[in-house]
Parts: sequence; C-alpha cells; structure tokens
Amino acid sequence: MTPQRYREDEQDLAAAIRVGLKRRPEQAFGDYFLGRRQSCALGAAYEGLYRLPTDGPHANARELERFFDCLEHSMRNCPEGCRKRIPLGAMIVHLNDDHRWSRERIAEWVAAGDEPAA
Ligand SMILES: [Zn+2]
Repeated sequence: MTPQRYREDEQDLAAAIRVGLKRRPEQAFGDYFLGRRQSCALGAAYEGLYRLPTDGPHANARELERFFDCLEHSMRNCPEGCRKRIPLGAMIVHLNDDHRWSRERIAEWVAAGDEPAA
C-alpha cells in the first residue's frame, strides 16, 4: 500500500473510534467490550467500522480487510516513550489498557499518523 493510502486508512480508523465510542459512553480496560455501555478504543473502532456513514465518497468501497491491514502491519512506537514497538492495533490496546489514554485521545493520535508507514 502507498503511504497516502495508509493515511486515509488512519483517518477512517480514527473516525471509526469516534463513531464507536458514542455507542458505548464508558471506556473499558482489558476487554474490547463490557456489558452494553463500555468499549475499549479498539472495540470502539470495530463497532464504529460498521457504522461509518454509508453515503460518503469512501463508504462502500472500503473493505474491513484494509483496516485490519492497517492495524496489523503499520508498526508504531509507543508515544509514551516506553520503548514498545508494536503494530497499530496492538498499540491502540496498549495505550488504552496500560497508559489509560481516553478513547478520544487515542483517536486523535491515530488521526495524527505520527510516523510514516513502515
Ligand atoms: Zn507504552
């Protein structure tokens, strides 16, 4: 994939987190979902992916596989400086569970795309 395409996927992923967290107002730690009201950042992303607007220019053309590609193959350094270097999806869980970042903050960090695609 091209860096440009990674950037687009990151934007969509951030949007998915923001959509998903509205579905479940409370943040979960250590689980994707807890009950009906809690989700972690990655849980919110998964849930949000299915609820992104379907009338936008990107809508139906986006396959979930591409998101999983972005989650699994885009390597990130931990922005908290703890020296972890892991795939984006695992980093989202790490920031959520270990550094207790809010889901909104994680979405912002994903959208910022602080590193070029590996
Ligand atoms: Zn860390």
